[in-house]
Amino acid sequence: MNEKVLVVDDNINNIRLLKEILEDENFLVHTSDDGVSTLEMVLNLKPDIILLDIMMPGMDGYEVCRTLKTNSLTQDIPVIMVTAKTEGEDVKRALDLGAFDYIKKPIDEIEVVARVQSALRFKKQQDKLKEMASRDGLTGVYNHALLLELFQKEFTKQERSGGNLAFVMLDIDHFKKVNDTYGHMAGDTVLKELTKIIVSNVRNGDIVGRYGGEEFGLVLTDISLEKVCQLCERIRQAIENNAFDIGTELIKITVSMGICFRKPDDSLTGGEMIKKADESLYKAKLMGRNRIELAAN
Ligand code: GH3
Ligand code: MG
Ligand code: MG
Repeated sequence: MNEKVLVVDDNINNIRLLKEILEDENFLVHTSDDGVSTLEMVLNLKPDIILLDIMMPGMDGYEVCRTLKTNSLTQDIPVIMVTAKTEGEDVKRALDLGAFDYIKKPIDEIEVVARVQSALRFKKQQDKLKEMASRDGLTGVYNHALLLELFQKEFTKQERSGGNLAFVMLDIDHFKKVNDTYGHMAGDTVLKELTKIIVSNVRNGDIVGRYGGEEFGLVLTDISLEKVCQLCERIRQAIENNAFDIGTELIKITVSMGICFRKPDDSLTGGEMIKKADESLYKAKLMGRNRIELAAN
């Protein structure tokens, strides 16, 4: 797919020139002539890279860059400053704010393309490394750190768009007994198979991560409370009904879950949601396990 470039410049001639150069290289070019509306535009457009003029009326390029780099939804998008301000201090300021690179005006066509391609190559490598570092080795779902990071991203997104959000904490019942009875390797096999069941029962785009040893976290967005409960119940039953093949025999396990559901007008923070899901999970355990509890808001 062609990569999306957003060009931000208050000068229409600069925009025209950059657009022409980049379209010749088959980039999809979008443009904005003012800094203030850029953040909103970036959130909607999700460009792969941003070329940003420094001197603009209203909000200058430094300020736009700072805003993009402090928002978790936009901070990973590479920004290249395009500027006539190429004194050491100017460049330092841009790079300190998180810009990836800068291109000096007047624009050189070959240089623009080379720098854009170099930034995109770097971003791809970064994404690949991040993806590799984000997976739990045993189960293949997101690890603890990424689960929390992605949850926070979804939280920010939902706060902005006014959508529902649910965090579900799932924990295997009496898992210690599985390890004690059949050995740690059998326990690992169960964890892997259990993960497959969870993943196959969530929707495309739902986030599944390993919160801790035998605890999993689910992040569900744009979903009604009723559908959250249905989805969790489906997972609970699928696990209860499954015979886990540990090589020497088939064994049965159950899980308990705690749900925290947040409507757009709730004041719950992300941290509070996780805490409530955990407390509900604890309650599900106390009430006999193999069940789901919903946190009261
Ligand atoms: P409860 O129903 O209250 O959750 O009881 P439990 O036995 O599941 O909970 P407890 O916290 O006492 O024990 C969790 C067990 O999970 C202990 C630990 O050895 C096991 N465990 C955690 N991570 C792994 C893992 O990666 N592999 C295996 N095989 N076991 C693990
Ligand atoms: Mg457990
Ligand atoms: Mg546990």
